[in-house]
Amino acid sequence: MKESTLVIVKPDGLQKSLTGNILTRLAETKLIIIASKIAVVSRKLAEAHYCHLKDKPFFEELVKYLTGEYHTHRVMALVYYGEDAIQKVRKICGATNPEEAEPGTIRGSYGRITTKGVYENAIHASGAPEEAKREIELWFEPDEIVFENLYPTREVVLSQHKKRMWA
Ligand code: UDP
Ligand code: MG
Repeated sequence: MKESTLVIVKPDGLQKSLTGNILTRLAETKLIIIASKIAVVSRKLAEAHYCHLKDKPFFEELVKYLTGEYHTHRVMALVYYGEDAIQKVRKICGATNPEEAEPGTIRGSYGRITTKGVYENAIHASGAPEEAKREIELWFEPDEIVFENLYPTREVVLSQHKKRMWA
């Protein structure tokens, strides 16, 4: 089944200049990239992204990790699309715990466990179609995605909308 998946190169990945290596690994999937951007992650976005983990003891550290408190305040977010995209990307990422991830996977190659117990595993990838939809809608506006009608949209007319333009 053709599906889309959200990938985030996490702040440790950017700090360690791993973006190129990670994208090269993901290219093995032959999936296509339909959106990408460098983003600064607000606390609100990090909390929303990991809302399903809010009761975990490591949640606060996880939010700090994703917002870049320990590395750089940037991440790279991408949407990959194609046949079995979710499973293909997860396979190359490897297990959540970098110590359990196969050595050839992205997390097995670049991840570590911090002394505070957080898995700094360099990459996020959606785990299921419903999760991918929720995450892609959280991270991207419809017009940032080069794929028509990935998910249903609605049109709104904004009259007093302030927008920054090039001078
Ligand atoms: N995480 C952690 N300790 C845990 C479980 C998760 O630090 O025991 C972090 C890790 O960075 C992971 C993220 O929380 O990537 C999200 O957890 P999830 O269970 O969704 O794993 P993933 O889908 O990223 O493999
Ligand atoms: Mg997950």
